[in-house]
Amino acid sequence: MRGSRQVVDYSLQKRAVLRELLAGRVGTYDVCDASPYLKNAARFHGEPTEERCPICRSENLTHVHYIYGDELKQSAGQARTRAELPALAMTLREFQVFVVEVCLGCDWNHLVEQYLLGRDGPTDGAEDGPEQDTVGGSGVPGAGTGPAPRRRREAQR
Ligand SMILES: [Zn+2]
Repeated sequence: MRGSRQVVDYSLQKRAVLRELLAGRVGTYDVCDASPYLKNAARFHGEPTEERCPICRSENLTHVHYIYGDELKQSAGQARTRAELPALAMTLREFQVFVVEVCLGCDWNHLVEQYLLGRDGPTDGAEDGPEQDTVGGSGVPGAGTGPAPRRRREAQR
């Protein structure tokens, strides 16, 4: 999304899960476990995609955008439509967006990416700043929860 920064791409992790599934080391029950909340969020706030579900191949994936950040107060952790994000980015200094893909057919779900939005960011066209954690690890969900590598673009093939 325009103006997004500190983007973390989870496609490597997703491919790893799909490999495990193909190899039979995990079952579909383990990965097709979308909660009723997630599925409702997908129905009401989801962004339809043209991408087929990698598991059942009969439904298209829906992207759900979850927002987190201290400024959001009680809205933190809620799902928002993608169309609502630019307005939020104008009014808030900084908030975190987590994009989750969901299949409403078989309940497959996986994190797609996370990024920061908000007024504090560099203006359009600005170079990426130095690799510094500007949030200082102050209670950002996702930070330190598992092996989420930052900026692994160069490792993707
Ligand atoms: Zn599916």
